[in-house]
Amino acid sequence: MSVCEGPCNRTWRQGREAFVNALTTWEESDPDTRGDRPIPPDIIPTPGEPVWCRSCTGGIRRALADLDNLAPLIAATSDGYRTRTDDSDRVRGSQAAPSPSPAADVLDELYGYLSRIEAQWREARGYGTRPERSRGAPALTVVVSWLSAHLDSILADPGSVGFGQSVLRWQRHLQALAKARPEGKRKPFPCPRCDRRTLVHEVDRDLVRCEGADCGRVMSTDEYATPVRGRPWPSGPPHERPPT
Ligand SMILES: [Zn+2]
Ligand SMILES: [Zn+2]
Repeated sequence: MSVCEGPCNRTWRQGREAFVNALTTWEESDPDTRGDRPIPPDIIPTPGEPVWCRSCTGGIRRALADLDNLAPLIAATSDGYRTRTDDSDRVRGSQAAPSPSPAADVLDELYGYLSRIEAQWREARGYGTRPERSRGAPALTVVVSWLSAHLDSILADPGSVGFGQSVLRWQRHLQALAKARPEGKRKPFPCPRCDRRTLVHEVDRDLVRCEGADCGRVMSTDEYATPVRGRPWPSGPPHERPPT
């Protein structure tokens, strides 16, 4: 049986590692004084179907979509860095390039990584070479939607372990960067994804973002104002109601 490589088996992996360490210590210690042989943890891991379980497949799919959702927030941070650099840090008369923008570098690296994955998968499947595209936010959207369209078959491939884990790591990384932005205005209605009251309105970007752990849903204010899961809002769209 193959075991799902996703976060669902974190406890199982930690338990197994602790057991292996305890067993090594036990085997190396004095047979006359050591206690009972450690027993393996009683945790049954979630199997992969065939590589990832259904829940982790869904998590990777949401994470991939989030990379595109979060990019505008990160890019906004990037512009901020650039402006500040131009105003204060440039030495008069110097030909040096402006200081690098950490946020822009992050998005560039992400785009480069996802493009390589697309190119590898195209080659493996004989889909033909990747069309040349310019870099930037629209290009990120295009590569994310290409990968989303092929995600089920990519994640069924035994070679997808590193890719799936990277997408989840990238999501955490971008969420952390997006969170470093100034505090927004808290919204009264629950998040359509995680159902917690953790939505924040970023006034300068006019976006609503969830601050819930492992969620990070980003939506337009229009989307926030539409009914969730077919339920009408109790009394009018949420932005017309005072926060509770
Ligand atoms: Zn799993
Ligand atoms: Zn949420």
